[in-house]
Amino acid sequence: MKHARVACFGSIHEAVADDGKLCLADGRIVDFDQVVWLPPLEVGTIFALGLNYLDHASEISVNLPEEPLLFLKGPNTLIGHGGFTRRPAGARMMHYECELAVVIGKKARAVKREDAYDYIAGYTIANDYAIRDYLENYYRPNLAVKNRDTLTPIGPWFVDKEAVKDPMNLKLYTYVNGERKQEGSTKDMLFDIPFLIEYLSSFMTLNENDVILTGTPKGTVNVVEGDEVVVEIEGIGKLKNTIVADSIFAR
Ligand code: MG
Repeated sequence: MKHARVACFGSIHEAVADDGKLCLADGRIVDFDQVVWLPPLEVGTIFALGLNYLDHASEISVNLPEEPLLFLKGPNTLIGHGGFTRRPAGARMMHYECELAVVIGKKARAVKREDAYDYIAGYTIANDYAIRDYLENYYRPNLAVKNRDTLTPIGPWFVDKEAVKDPMNLKLYTYVNGERKQEGSTKDMLFDIPFLIEYLSSFMTLNENDVILTGTPKGTVNVVEGDEVVVEIEGIGKLKNTIVADSIFAR
């Protein structure tokens, strides 16, 4: 089942995919272009992986991490499918990152990898934008690079885990203005999903609706105002958004 959250008819609705349309929780059927798409769940803590694909690590010229390189993203960064992502004036390098987002389904503490999938509710897609200009050169907390408003489009669908047979073997793609720029497979993650759940839950509690962004493969290139960016994951969906300038936000 594919679930969404949308705004239409003056309020917010839970919805499910229904033969190319949306079926709202109250039974009304609407077209995709009749709604504003919201993040498909009310997201808790957002964990993001740096350098979790071998080819992307080599692309940005760093040594491979020996343990997961994790940081947090705030809820201010989230926007839904079809939204706008802000490119600050003067930025020289802003790139997308197509990522499988793992949604935690229940409280998790000290989970062993063989039990990890029991703690997953499902999956969605995130585009973990980075503005490289703001990378700090020593401590690298990724705050100014990754935590600006609108830098995490997510959705359009939350897909139940039962509908994703092998999350560690899914194709990922990114298209900029219709041209394919990025391609990879989740099978090339350095630290796989069970490892990440075991690792995180070894020192902190994970809760329902926490989300783990699992990293991106090679093929991240600069995007500019006006670009339409689509990140796609096999079996999960296609998440579209548009790069806009500061002037759209009027502040
Ligand atoms: Mg990322």
